[in-house]
Amino acid sequence: MGKIIALFNQSGGVGKSTLTMNLGYHLQRRKHRVLLVDMDPQASLTSFMGVEPTNLEKTVYDAVCQEQSLPILPNIHGMDLAPTNISLSLAEMELVNARLRDFRLKDALSDIQFNYDYILIDCLPSLGLLSYISLMAANYVLVPVQTQYKAFFGTQWLLKTIFDIRKKPNPQLSLAGFVPTLYDSRNSQDSYILKEMQAQLQEYGQVFPPIPRTTAFADASQYHEPLALYAPRNTALSALKKIAKGLEELP
Ligand code: ADP
Ligand code: MG
Repeated sequence: MGKIIALFNQSGGVGKSTLTMNLGYHLQRRKHRVLLVDMDPQASLTSFMGVEPTNLEKTVYDAVCQEQSLPILPNIHGMDLAPTNISLSLAEMELVNARLRDFRLKDALSDIQFNYDYILIDCLPSLGLLSYISLMAANYVLVPVQTQYKAFFGTQWLLKTIFDIRKKPNPQLSLAGFVPTLYDSRNSQDSYILKEMQAQLQEYGQVFPPIPRTTAFADASQYHEPLALYAPRNTALSALKKIAKGLEELP
C-alpha cells in the first residue's frame, strides 16, 4: 500500500506548500506515482501547480463536505493534484456536526489510494478540523519547521496534537520526521536553532537536511514550476533529493 503523508505545522509561511510540491516532484522523478492533496483553503499549492483556484468546478470541498469523489487533475509536472479553493474554508464549520466527519478525507482517498505510491497532503496552518481529518487520513506526518526560535518553540503543541491523535483515533500515524526550512547558513541565529532542533527533536523522529532559504523557490512557484525545472543547478535541490529518498526508506 502507498504512503499517505500529511505535511503539517500549525504555523503559516514555513514553506509547507513549497515543500509538498517539490518533494512530490522528486518522488515522481524517482518513478513513483504521486498525488498531491491541497487541504488549505488558501490554495497556495493549487496556485503553485499553475491551477487558478477560482476557476475550479470541483475541489476537495466537494469530497469532504458533499461526500463526492475526490476531483483529480492529472499529470501536472508528472504529479496528480486534488485542488482546492476558498470554499474549503466552509468545511471547518460544516464538518462540526457532520456524520462520520473524522473519516471524510480518509474515505475520499480510499477509492483512489491504490493508484498511488505517495499521497502528500498539504495541511492548513491550524490545529482545527481540516488538519484533524488530514491526520486521520494519513499514515505519516512530516513536519516542516522554520529555523527560527519562535517557530521552533511552537513545535511542542504540534507534537502534542500528533501524539494525541496517535494515542487514540489514529494509532497508524507515524512521525516521518522534521524538515528544517528557510535556513540561512550565513545567519548565526539560524545555525544555532538548527543545531538545537537536531539535538532536541531527534528523540521524536529524524531531522532531515535543512531546506536553504533562496528566492529561487518563490520565483519557481510564480512560474508554476518545481525548483528542479526552474533552477536545475540550485544548491537547495540536494536537500530535496535526500528527503525524497528518506521518504522511500520509511518503514
Ligand atoms: P506555507 O505553506 O507553510 O504557508 P509556503 O510554501 O506557501 O509556506 O511559503 C511561504 C512563502 O515563502 C512563499 O512565498 C514561498 O515562495 C516562500 N518560500 C518557501 N520556501 C522557501 C525557501 N526555502 N526559500 C525562500 N522562500 C521560500
Ligand atoms: Mg501552505
